[in-house]
Amino acid sequence: KESSAEEVTSRYLEVIEKSKINGYLTISDKAFEQAKKIDKEGHEGPLAGVPIAIKDNISVVGLPNSCGSKILEGYVPPFNAHVIEKLLSAGAVILGKTNMDEFAMGSSTETSHFGPTANPWDLERVPGGSSGGSAAVVAAGEAPFALGSDTGGSVRCPASFCGVVGLKPTYGAVSRYGVVAYANSLEQVGPLANNVEDIAVLMDVIAGYDRRDSTSIDSKTEYLKALVDDVKGLKIGVPKEFFGEGIHPDVEKAVWDAIHKCESLEATWEEVSMPHIKYALASYYIIAMSEASSNLARFDGTRYGFRAGGENWHAMVSKTRAEGFGTEVKRRILLGTYALSAGYHDKYYLKALKVRTLVKQDFDKALSKVDLLMAPTMPNPAFKIGEKIEDPLTLYLSDINTCPINLAGVPSISVPCGFTDGLPIGLQIMGKPFDEETVLRAAYTFE
Ligand code: GLN
Repeated sequence: KESSAEEVTSRYLEVIEKSKINGYLTISDKAFEQAKKIDKEGHEGPLAGVPIAIKDNISVVGLPNSCGSKILEGYVPPFNAHVIEKLLSAGAVILGKTNMDEFAMGSSTETSHFGPTANPWDLERVPGGSSGGSAAVVAAGEAPFALGSDTGGSVRCPASFCGVVGLKPTYGAVSRYGVVAYANSLEQVGPLANNVEDIAVLMDVIAGYDRRDSTSIDSKTEYLKALVDDVKGLKIGVPKEFFGEGIHPDVEKAVWDAIHKCESLEATWEEVSMPHIKYALASYYIIAMSEASSNLARFDGTRYGFRAGGENWHAMVSKTRAEGFGTEVKRRILLGTYALSAGYHDKYYLKALKVRTLVKQDFDKALSKVDLLMAPTMPNPAFKIGEKIEDPLTLYLSDINTCPINLAGVPSISVPCGFTDGLPIGLQIMGKPFDEETVLRAAYTFE
């Protein structure tokens, strides 16, 4: 029997009410209204009546957009992000906004001003980050779909830790209009779902040209059509640099099992070398922090959200930022400002950009010989809440396999490929720019 949009929405809201994971920051008070309207008027869209959860850095009219920060307290966007316009016209029902690391800075959702989200597989563990709320609510059955954003792994990391599928599209495939910027040159909005088919359906809705994002491109990719159940003849590259020191043996084994599964289906694989990958993490963090230090200058207490008192404008701005930003955000503003400052710009920022080019060339070279690259998404399964948060460098290190992809701008998906001690493991499949079709086709093998 077909369910009405209202029935579906109310079932999800019932599950959310009993939630133990702190995945949502806001539940939309318009979800019912939206669902009822779809039932009453009918809707031809591909997502008619389907509920979706949205990361709290993507603007939705009438819902707070905190970015996991105190500094945006009370700010409610008066406009929809491009991806939200697309979802609404496809008939989706917005369930609410999900928890995230403050301004998407983190890999565990522990830097959120609103407390961490728990991993549904083990409530003492992190869901990954920064789109931890989005991945966790999908894994916990609190939403069938979610949107996240991926600047240096923030869709793929939580997808891997929560055992769901998450895609970082090619840079430019999805408009960033209405998404609060952390590091513009690196980030993309990406879908999270329980299976590859749902990811493809969402991409068909949210991707495409938008004149309000000067980096957006219409690639004419047909995502759902790409899902043919066949990897025969595909050439897979295995970059050995992604299997370096510190990879959990069970993660390594699960990823190799996945590669061998493709081989048994008549794909071939070969080892490829990407010599500059070892510098990617350092380059990523310098570029991300530099861009962040500039982007976050707009939060000055004058324009948005929280404002602390002060006897004059300077005191007000200084107090607002001191009280409004958390520790990790402040650390990054300071380091980013340092890397951009006169005298250090060439030594750090410019050098990081040069390394970025070398990393991109490694991808170009490897992907000229093979169709895809396969590697672990994360070196380890989800860690305990509190285990790494006091040690930022260790936390940054967990992004070793995800952030090179953002430097290169290529598409990459994380799909579940096994378990260790009851915790999910993610396989990362990377492809050529705007060749999501091959990436999704390969990912579909693991359904
Ligand atoms: N963990 C990375 C960072 O903190 C990735 C964040 C992201 O993709 N938004 O920068």
